[in-house]
This record gives sequence, structure tokens and C-alpha cells, in this order.
Amino acid sequence: MQLALSAEDAEFRDEMREFFTTEIPQEIRDAVRDQRELTKDHLVTSMRILNEHGLAVPNWPVEWGGRDWSPLRRHIWHEEMQRAFVPAPLAFNATMIGPVIAQFGSQELKQRFLPATANLDIWWSQGFSEPDAGSDLASLRTTAVRDGDEYVVNGQKTWTTLGQYGDWIFMLVRTDPEAKKQAGISMLLIDMTSPGVEVRPIELIDGGHEVNEVWFTDVRVPLDNLVGEENRAWDYAKFLLGNERVGVAPVGATKRLLAQAKEWAGPLLEDPLLAARVAELENELLALELTALRVVAHSADGKPHPASSVLKLKGTELQQAVTELVVDLAGPASLASGAGDDSDLPWWTRRSTPVYLNFRKASIYGGSNEVQRQIIARTILGL
Ligand SMILES: Cc1cc2nc3c(=O)[nH]c(=O)nc-3n(C[C@H](O)[C@H](O)[C@H](O)COP(=O)(O)OP(=O)(O)OC[C@H]3O[C@@H](n4cnc5c(N)ncnc54)[C@H](O)[C@@H]3O)c2cc1C
Repeated sequence: MQLALSAEDAEFRDEMREFFTTEIPQEIRDAVRDQRELTKDHLVTSMRILNEHGLAVPNWPVEWGGRDWSPLRRHIWHEEMQRAFVPAPLAFNATMIGPVIAQFGSQELKQRFLPATANLDIWWSQGFSEPDAGSDLASLRTTAVRDGDEYVVNGQKTWTTLGQYGDWIFMLVRTDPEAKKQAGISMLLIDMTSPGVEVRPIELIDGGHEVNEVWFTDVRVPLDNLVGEENRAWDYAKFLLGNERVGVAPVGATKRLLAQAKEWAGPLLEDPLLAARVAELENELLALELTALRVVAHSADGKPHPASSVLKLKGTELQQAVTELVVDLAGPASLASGAGDDSDLPWWTRRSTPVYLNFRKASIYGGSNEVQRQIIARTILGL
């Protein structure tokens, strides 16, 4: 089945394809293709090129660099970017804090932060989760207490992705300990070079350094760095997490990996069982893609659709299923992840197990898949 594009949309697709395959340095696209860990420089360079051409934050309001595209065009932009192995704009900036500041921030915050956020002059980190507040985020305990024209912040955040690169962190903090859980939470923007902020690495099962703990000890934050109103951040967080879930349904990237897997499989694809497994994954990905288009089309006023939970759930399940397929294709060579680049084994077989292990995270972050099932049951199925 093909999605038939109008002549104008097909032209738009060709423009995007041309842009992504010619303007983003080959070295960066090769790193994405070969599933290597991207450097900070890769991500900054790529996002700045996108921003220079008005392609970094099309989801934002037009006055702040967004594009008034149809949902289909936004989908095409995203698909073509993934197809060309271009790293997506940094999610913390482009799909998380940027839209929140644009929607709920003061004019002063918008002017101060939005241009630098779109251009990745500021690298944002997400400071939501705590050791005892993940799925049950509203039980977070990091406090911010007013002292003159500042807040004083104390507590610990965890799983802070790429916090080692972070310039600023958007935080959920408790400003009213007396209020009902959700009602006492505010959002603060904190400069990570402030005295009292300490980033400690967490080593992951694939050996990479992707996440961190961030500690706050008497960190002084100007009152001006509050987003929106005090104690209203639960609404802002729900808005942000809805956007995050749509963003973590990686249809294009999973399609791309599946296409690579078919190439790697070669003659193995003649095996009927393997062919059926691949065909089923392709069908499910197509169904997910159509669902993603429907969800985007029905998101009113830029607000996330409740079905974003379906995208998160199914998208990450398929992503994990394809990484598992690649391990199976690699067979015994999948055990050779420690072999260096001078090994005779193809690079993709050596990368297959670290990539598989790394993507176990996908059913946890952005709200775990079990929690998504509960949201679907409540808000979509009415159970
Ligand atoms: C790689 C990675 C990167 C991350 N990056 C960030 C980041 O940058 N910033 C940030 O703030 N957070 C980040 N997170 C944190 C992430 O949002 C949390 O891990 C997630 O919300 C789950 O919380 P938890 O780990 O505390 O698990 P818990 O909430 O303790 O859950 C443990 C288990 O219980 C299940 N469970 C919990 N509650 C329910 C329920 N009500 N019904 C059914 N099952 C339930 C969960 O599904 C899970 O299987 C990241 C996590 C990972 C793994």
C-alpha cells in the first residue's frame, strides 16, 4: 500500500529529500547509519544547519521559527530526515521545553530562550524523574523555597539523558509542600553551571554514558526563571509529556533499520519463517505510520492527542522487535560486541547486541509502556 501524495506534497518531499541528503555532512549521516554514538558536535552541527534553513522546529508557533505546515508535511519532513540518516533535532529543545515556553512562558522568557533553544546554543536537559518519582512523577521531592528574589533548590534528579552536555535544565520542583501532590509543583529553568549543581554519570548495560544523576544543593535560581505560574506545572508537564510520546514513536527510524536488516539478511530472507517475520513487522509499521498521521491530524490547537500513548506503546514495541531481529540475523557474531574495528565480522553484527540492549530503555522512558496501557484503558477505551 502506498500513500498517494498530491503533486505539491510530492514536490515538498523531493525538496526535503534533496536537502537532507546534500546539506547535512556525510560524516554525521554515516554515524547515524552505522548506529555509532553521536558526539555533541554532531548533534549541534546538524541542528544548526536545520535551523538556518527553518527546518529545526517546524512544530513551534510561526513567530518563533515554526512552519505552518499541514500534518502531512510535518510527517514527510520527519520521515525524510530519518530516511536520510539525519539526527532529529534535540528532543529536549525542539519537542519538550521549546513548545512549553512558547505556550506557557512569559514574553521575556520567550525572547530570552526560544531563539537559542531552536539553534541549540543552549543544550537543555530534562529534570523530571527522581529516585522515588518515575511513573508516579507527582511524588517528586526536590524542593524550591523562595528566599527574596530567588528560589533555593535542593534535591536529586535521575536518568538525566545527556546531562553531561546540558547547559540548562528544565525542572519540576515542589514549591508548595502542603498542597495536594500535583497542585504544589512548579517548573524552573536552571543554569547547570550554577553553584551547587553536580552531574554524576550512570553507566548503562551497553557500556555507554547516556544518563546521569543530577544533584542540587542550595542552588539559587532567580524567580524570573519560573515558567508560567507557581504551582501550575502539572499542566505544563502533561503537555510536554504528550509531545514527548509522539516524538518517541520512531516510525521512520524503525522502517530504516528494518530495511537495513533485510539487506543484511541477504539469502536468509528466502527462509519462509524469516520472510513472514519481516512481512509482519512491515505491516505493523505501516499501520503505525497511518495511526501517527491520524493522531497528528486530530491534535487540536497543538495539544497532544490521547492516542499519543498508542504511538509510544506500539512504536517502541516495534523498535525493540526490529533490534531483536537484527541480533537473530547476526547469530553467534552478535556476541562479539567487544571486537574492535579490525575484526573480520561485519560492523552491524558487532553493534547488534549493544543496540538491542540500549533500546530496552524505550519501553521505560517517556512514561513506561505499562503506564501507557493504563492511559489508553482510561482515556481511549473508557474502562
Ligand atoms: C534511558 C532512559 C533515559 C531517561 N531520560 C530521562 C530524562 O532525561 N529526564 C527525566 O526526567 N527522566 C528520564 N528517564 C526516566 C523515565 O521517565 C522513568 O524511568 C520512567 O518514568 C519510569 O520511572 P522509574 O524508572 O522510576 O520506574 P518505576 O516508576 O519505579 O516503575 C517500575 C516498574 O513498575 C511499573 N509500574 C509503575 N507504576 C505502574 C502502574 N501504575 N501500573 C502498572 N505498572 C506500573 C513500570 O512500568 C515499571 O515496569 C529516563 C529513563 C531511561 C530508562
